[in-house]
Amino acid sequence: MAMNKILFFVDIYKWLISLIFFLTGGKVTIFFVHTNVQLNVELNYKGFMIIYKHATDLKKQLTKFKIPNGSVGFVPTMGALHEGHLSLLRQSKKAAEITVASIFVNPTQFNNADDFKKYPKTIEQDVLLLETNGCDILFLPDEKEIYPNEESRQKHFDLGYLETILEGKFRPGHFQGVCLVVEKLLNIVEADFLFMGQKDFQQCMVIKRLIEIMNVNVQLIICPILREETGLAMSSRNLRLTADERILAAKLHKALLSIKNNCNENFQSLKNKTVTDLENQGFKVDYLELAGKNNLALLTDFNEKEDLVLLIAAYLNEVRLIDNVLINH
Ligand code: AMP
Repeated sequence: MAMNKILFFVDIYKWLISLIFFLTGGKVTIFFVHTNVQLNVELNYKGFMIIYKHATDLKKQLTKFKIPNGSVGFVPTMGALHEGHLSLLRQSKKAAEITVASIFVNPTQFNNADDFKKYPKTIEQDVLLLETNGCDILFLPDEKEIYPNEESRQKHFDLGYLETILEGKFRPGHFQGVCLVVEKLLNIVEADFLFMGQKDFQQCMVIKRLIEIMNVNVQLIICPILREETGLAMSSRNLRLTADERILAAKLHKALLSIKNNCNENFQSLKNKTVTDLENQGFKVDYLELAGKNNLALLTDFNEKEDLVLLIAAYLNEVRLIDNVLINH
């Protein structure tokens, strides 16, 4: 069928309105980009997604929108959305009355300026994906909204051991940056449910800790890893891989599965062999570790007493990839 879509785009930024619209077989979709103008009607239009750039507007609207005893589900992202992100959105739609997603490429969690600069951005496509998948509200702040001044970047969170291992060790300051932004977002959205992916296993543990520190009433729901057919964990950074690198990148997951399937052998020798194999194929491995699933304490060998997790981080040329698999008993 021929595509004859026109996108209506209503942008009220600084009182200017612009329209783009998609017509799909006579169906019109309207996106509101909401900034400093209160639109009271939009939430009555079922199926529309509203985009807020300012926290105060979003908060006001959420207060109005909140059904008594209704719940808000929140899916924070850095954009360049893929099926993994959308699986979180779908979980939220099942669990909560209102689903809020955010897109913000958070500068404070990047310990590498080049990685930040090259982080993929596909905002038009992201908006379409969120809207067509039933997201109610998108929070799309700019950097000044989240970090209005230097002081707003300075807070320190006591993450203890969690910050000293794995991602924390190889990306100093990363989890402080994650906590900075998630704390701000949670204070704005005041969600009942927070949806995050097991793909970022250690991040989920850090956020659990942050929720304790903040002492807020939000339930963290950890969603399974979505993978390509090859086994490669979906990731925004995969957009930076060439076709050949993408095929090679799937070896990370295969390596984890192979270790898991041989967990009657000694972990250290499996680890040494796997790291050598991967490095011979062009990866640069930051870490390959076995840990307790519940406390992330690093282990030297398998044990049958607790649930475990195998975690890996490796560079393929410039692109850093992470993955993990659970070993449940
Ligand atoms: P990001 O945009 O990379 O910050 O990710 C936003 C959220 O999506 C995080 O909670 C991630 O853990 C989650 N996520 C990223 N990739 C996947 C995936 N392949 N499967 C499920 N969740 C994912």
